[in-house]
Amino acid sequence: MFETIKEQPADKILMLMQAYREDPRSDKIDLGVGVYKDAEGHTPIMRAIKAAEKKLWETETTKSYTGLAGDPGFADAMVALVLGDAVARGNVAAAATPGGTGAVRQAFDMAKMANPDVRVFVSDPTWPNHLSILKHMKIETVMYRYFDADSRGVDFEGMLADLAQVRKGDLVLLHGCCHNPTGANLNTTQWQAVIDLLLKTGATPMVDLAYQGFGDGLEEDAAAVRMIAASVPECLIAASCSKNFGIYRERTGLLMAVAQDAGAQKLNQGTLNYLNRQNFSFPPDHGARLVTMVLTDPELRADWAAELEEMRGGMLDLRQQLADELQRLSGSDRFGFIAQHRGMFSRIGAAPEQVETLRRDHGVYMVGDSRMNIAGLNAKTVPILADAIVKSGV
Ligand code: PMP
Repeated sequence: MFETIKEQPADKILMLMQAYREDPRSDKIDLGVGVYKDAEGHTPIMRAIKAAEKKLWETETTKSYTGLAGDPGFADAMVALVLGDAVARGNVAAAATPGGTGAVRQAFDMAKMANPDVRVFVSDPTWPNHLSILKHMKIETVMYRYFDADSRGVDFEGMLADLAQVRKGDLVLLHGCCHNPTGANLNTTQWQAVIDLLLKTGATPMVDLAYQGFGDGLEEDAAAVRMIAASVPECLIAASCSKNFGIYRERTGLLMAVAQDAGAQKLNQGTLNYLNRQNFSFPPDHGARLVTMVLTDPELRADWAAELEEMRGGMLDLRQQLADELQRLSGSDRFGFIAQHRGMFSRIGAAPEQVETLRRDHGVYMVGDSRMNIAGLNAKTVPILADAIVKSGV
């Protein structure tokens, strides 16, 4: 019977990884897949995670099931990390999920349970997985303008104009920080305007927070999600631990549903537990336990935060170096946006042919929409990339 299923399109980023691996050039540069890399091109296990893993190995006495929502200690530690004291803990339902992707998927599922005709508004562009999951779930998706092709910043007027169509029963998906794939983000005044619009229309926000600590700092990157959670009657938050704890393959994430009172929280918690049960039963625990150990042990936490800060600072330095080098080579300020963008990505606004030229003639691999992973660079490759960008006529 399976012959009736049509072939699924291959994942473009995974195809790009494959092409990079097969390229024999020694000076090739991989700016494709969204994984943090150090100057040697290595994705390290963070020191605090390694230490927690050792301790866990020595002290863990059982691998029996946790709860359907995962370990409550993980939820407590992550809710505090993401929401601080923006809302009362008793109003937050939370469930561990396999990665941030699992949280995103469960959030859409919950919205569909609440409203089978839910429309999900997503930024144009957004993380391609948002779109493919929504399509797979047959959920109506509406794009709102987000990226301004000229300035490479946010087209905020366009965004607000498009979001003016939302109504109660719709879900508005927002990137909490470090927008993927553009790197362009809202400022505080703009976030407030979005909140005002949500309050006026009654639509429900869903915040995808996959890069807390990669932009302006752990607290700073949570500022928008905290403002939202404190202002609107209800919201969903999908948090990923993949990047900021460097535990990509452990599949660690948390879905939070913030409500206004303990009664609604109880209902939401039951829904989250139910959804976990239907989709995969108990969530993975290893990564979640490591995160909990790191966040609750003052020494491990301080070391983790320091290492995360080094990673963030390194990416900011690379942004500045690339912007400076491009300014020097092009004699113009038009690449200044690279230093303004935050997170791992910047969309440089190259046409598909230019992206192809960069790959073919210069061995520079970036995603077809010209998203580049800044962490794929180092001090040696920045000038090479800048030269290639200018020579490709971007
Ligand atoms: N949301 C966004 C915007 C992302 O970029 C990612 C990671 N690529 C995720 C969610 C989830 O990542 P993971 O499932 O690996 O935790």
